[in-house]
Amino acid sequence: MAHSEFDDLVADMVLLRRDIHSHPELGFEEMRTAALIAARLRAAGIEVHEGVGGTGVVGVLRNGDSARSIGLRADMDALPVQEETGLPYASRHDGIFHGCGHDGHVAMLLGAALHLARTRRFNGTVNFIFQPAEEGLAGGRAMVEDGLFRRFPCDRVFALHNWPELPLGTVATCPGPIMAAADRFEIALVGRGGHAAMPYDTPDAIMAAGVLIAQLNSIISRDVNPTASAVLSITQVHGGHAHNVIPARVTLGGTVRSFDADVQHVIETRLREMVAGTAQSFGLDFEIHYDRYYPATINDEDAAAEVFSAAASIGADIASARPAFTSEDFAFMLQACKGAYIWLGQAGEGAGAPLHNPRFDFNDDALPIGVHLHVALVDAWLGFGYPT
Ligand SMILES: [Zn+2]
Ligand SMILES: [Zn+2]
Repeated sequence: MAHSEFDDLVADMVLLRRDIHSHPELGFEEMRTAALIAARLRAAGIEVHEGVGGTGVVGVLRNGDSARSIGLRADMDALPVQEETGLPYASRHDGIFHGCGHDGHVAMLLGAALHLARTRRFNGTVNFIFQPAEEGLAGGRAMVEDGLFRRFPCDRVFALHNWPELPLGTVATCPGPIMAAADRFEIALVGRGGHAAMPYDTPDAIMAAGVLIAQLNSIISRDVNPTASAVLSITQVHGGHAHNVIPARVTLGGTVRSFDADVQHVIETRLREMVAGTAQSFGLDFEIHYDRYYPATINDEDAAAEVFSAAASIGADIASARPAFTSEDFAFMLQACKGAYIWLGQAGEGAGAPLHNPRFDFNDDALPIGVHLHVALVDAWLGFGYPT
């Protein structure tokens, strides 16, 4: 097979991916990664905007005279996890690790940018969006609030995430929700504390917590329509320090995941009612902190269809995604712009470790497929076939 410029580009991006893997950075601290991206974009003649939403970088590439535009997003941050892969290019920073493959996302999008800067086979504007702080710090929201789509208007926005559960190269998405909304709650049951031998004198926050745990676990089965789906998990219980003392305060913590705003509302409302009712019945006060931190990631129907036709155009296997209960801050971009979130299968021989596992590594064989898919999305939206 003839050696092509594309092969050289992919080889270059594999080296870059491994370099980023060796130098992972946590959310909003992606200084080195962002500088590296900006330098490579500039060298390819792409207009560069740094410091968008913190450490975010946007590259703008225009061609032809069409007013149409597309955004492609990659996340840049690593996780606070100790890597255990033993790879030659393993993390050089203790306790920080690209355990979600965002190093691969950067390399796939940068590869597409460099390829499009050279071939320029499109008519319109491509915005390459390199986002900080996806892992729980809402860098996507930071970019949107910093005027991302006002400064860089996009008719569509797409994001790829590697997906170890799918075979290498399989492209999966779906219309509607693909990732869940994530809420977290902390509940305090507050009494005054007293002697455990005299419970008739002291409201019992421990017993109330036990009752409340059982009640809260009934919300999904009793209050949520069974055709919808949602999760409520209580993950923390804290209270008490001595065998003969009824504690003054017990706290419960946990998470709620849902795909539909109405369901999310039902769950929060019932949780608040149950806490208030239980506290009252035990003679306790209460505090509730309920935080809806990531909305559901909801794909536009047309955009999802465009993903499938783009994937078909590069000969990729296609799968309909079954929505995942994990969450993703690309949700904030999809609230502001039509688009779709896409999973790119990366399981090789014997499959790899799951996302966020200390032995996870991005599969470099997925890299050229990701570059092709980005380019195919640009072609689907800004190709010469569309009237301008
Ligand atoms: Zn992750
Ligand atoms: Zn991720």
